Amino acid sequence: MPKQRVCRILKAGEDALREARAALLAGEVVAIPTETVYGLAADATNGPAVARIFESKQRPSFNPLICHVTGIAMAKRFASFDPLSRKLADAFWPGALTLVLPLRDDHAIHPLVTAGLDTVAVRAPQGFGAELIAAVGRPLAAPSANRSGRISPTTAQAVADSLGDAIPLVIDGGPTAVGVESTIVKVDGETVRLLRPGGVAAEEIEAVVGRSLVRAEANAAIQAPGMLASHYAPRAQMRLNADHVAPGEALLGFGPVRIAGANAAKEVLVLSEAADMKEAASNLFEFMSRLDAAGATTIAVEPIPSSGLGEAINDRLARAAAPRGEK
Ligand code: AMP
Ligand code: MG
Repeated sequence: MPKQRVCRILKAGEDALREARAALLAGEVVAIPTETVYGLAADATNGPAVARIFESKQRPSFNPLICHVTGIAMAKRFASFDPLSRKLADAFWPGALTLVLPLRDDHAIHPLVTAGLDTVAVRAPQGFGAELIAAVGRPLAAPSANRSGRISPTTAQAVADSLGDAIPLVIDGGPTAVGVESTIVKVDGETVRLLRPGGVAAEEIEAVVGRSLVRAEANAAIQAPGMLASHYAPRAQMRLNADHVAPGEALLGFGPVRIAGANAAKEVLVLSEAADMKEAASNLFEFMSRLDAAGATTIAVEPIPSSGLGEAINDRLARAAAPRGEK
């Protein structure tokens, strides 16, 4: 059980800005007001910090998070804009519109933020969130600040009621103005897809891009993690809960002790020697791709406990291990 602690609630202002900035730069999570709903923010370039988001929310899977920026200039450091996406950012940022954009090759966003995808969801919020991102100087990953499966919070008290025993600090900016999540769109060539309806109406977007939005089928946002599973399937087979390494296999380890045959493995990467779930989560996507690149036909994976972040780690591994076509 996580140890009980009660979070502090600080009114948005200069002191809150200083404290939140220091906490984020130290790799902590902070719940912050935005104009849509309250977000649980972490430095998007810091893997263990992003892992804390999933841990605090008790999310059972690693779905991709929205990166919050001060504006187009910061977004351009890690994502590229096609002309239509640029037009949308010019029209709606700062505001309740999220754009899914291709990641640049030289980006510094941690793969846990994008769940290993080569695209990233980006938004420039208004108010305290915008000031905080400017003060930190880095993009902040932030899903809604509620425990997984609960409704999104629109007041600081609702955040504290849902996550108060799991996070250190909530910044109180009053009730949020919009009260629903951001609208998510993705430009695909000449097509503008609506991935999730939200705070900016489809008609407003259609007026700017001069064409009708193509609606993704119901639940498309929920399908995103499933879609990315096939996107991020290693070429190698994954053999889970392995108790030995067979000849020619690579090994993905967890904890201080290696299973039999590890010495002869093609390559060994250990998610966390110390069995620290946050460290393991933050290494997961990178290590899967590195072992894949080592050229083994099978990656043996040591057992990983399913407590805490282990549930999301095992969910991700199970998708990677599923027969092709079922991912
Ligand atoms: P939230 O929990 O409100 O932050 O939700 C973020 C939403 O953005 C989820 O529904 C994700 O599936 C979606 N999302 C984030 N990144 C991407 C991406 N690269 N491609 C498609 N959808 C994304
Ligand atoms: Mg949410």
